[in-house]
Amino acid sequence: QTSQLALDFRRNFPYFNNSDVCYLDNAATTHICQPALNAINHYYQFEHATVHRSNHTSATHNTNKFEQCRMQVAQHFGLADKKQVIWTKGATEAANIIAKGLCQNYLDEGDEVLLSEAEHHAHHVTWVEMAKQYKLKLVFIPYNENLQIDLVALQNLISAKTKVIAISHVSNATGVIQPIEQAIKISKQFQHIKVVVDGSQAVNHLTVDMAELNADFYFFSAHKMYSGTGLGVLLGQLNSLTLLSAPLYGGEMVRKVDYSNIEYNQLPFYLEAGTPNIAAVHAFSATLNFLSSVDTAALHQYQHQLMCYLKAQLQTIPFVQLLNGDQVSATSFVISGLHTADAAELLSQMKIAIRTGFHCAMPFVTKLANQGTLRVSIAPYNTVEEIDYFVQSIQKLETFLD
Ligand code: PMP
Repeated sequence: QTSQLALDFRRNFPYFNNSDVCYLDNAATTHICQPALNAINHYYQFEHATVHRSNHTSATHNTNKFEQCRMQVAQHFGLADKKQVIWTKGATEAANIIAKGLCQNYLDEGDEVLLSEAEHHAHHVTWVEMAKQYKLKLVFIPYNENLQIDLVALQNLISAKTKVIAISHVSNATGVIQPIEQAIKISKQFQHIKVVVDGSQAVNHLTVDMAELNADFYFFSAHKMYSGTGLGVLLGQLNSLTLLSAPLYGGEMVRKVDYSNIEYNQLPFYLEAGTPNIAAVHAFSATLNFLSSVDTAALHQYQHQLMCYLKAQLQTIPFVQLLNGDQVSATSFVISGLHTADAAELLSQMKIAIRTGFHCAMPFVTKLANQGTLRVSIAPYNTVEEIDYFVQSIQKLETFLD
């Protein structure tokens, strides 16, 4: 039965008042919560002015608020200094800023980057391109039968040339939680290795304490955490962030400019040229306040039960092959005898929103299932009735099997 807690939580998401879609595509994007929507409205109606430029009252108010939001995010992720929080457009931009910065200022020709086999294209494509442009050697960390990075292989792959290890906290293709704590511990036996973690699928479900985790960089998009699109967060240790170069040139990232010389601003500003997405920052701050006002531990517990129920139900269907593992909110499966694209179309006609195909992790998903998979991903606002409807709809696909 859907818990009262989950139903109360669901009431904070206006999408559900206006939709009859069974939304199980939360790994792609979560719905935005009412407090975040209110913050966006409030910002444009009453507070709109730029930050870090003009000196009039609303601009000063906004600058202060913008920097308070940054501090709030730092504290939320266990960081002491707000300079350790860089706003980006999204996870993809953050992955690019990190990789390009490290290539320009840290890596030399012939250096090795260890990349997990299952990275999202945001991470995978970026490092493949960087390896080509900067003549690096890309080494892939294989997966074990639990769909987790193989830590023994990781240890063995590290060489004197390894400078970067790029992994994700939770796989977007399989939903499996990765042993990043152990991976970071292994990597940190070597002082010259920088660890980059894609946290896009983790931040909404797991506690991330950067001080404890000791990753050099960690990034995600706010839209996967009940906030709006157009905002990403790049977190880092100060000595690692200072290795990054300005991804763009322009206003805010400079301190003193004449016709030939430029003195750059300090962290975090030189990584944030141009007018930022102020409304999205306000929205994300409101989301964090909202999340601290609800019982997230109980909601995660409910989500865990819902996930176990979903997987148990799917396992009873003979033509479904589930990719099992330690999954927090998403799971992937294939249907024998029905092409993934056809299943997607049929489910969409039944008003079910899930993701099908290669999940922007094409090399890895192709290895697992050459026609891609169906990925169902939940959040604590999903109900038992939605899971039942979804499972019944999958059962109905039997008539379409080859
Ligand atoms: N990494 C992972 C693991 C993701 O799931 C996603 C979003 N699908 C991204 C990176 C990219 O996020 P965005 O498109 O918001 O930049």
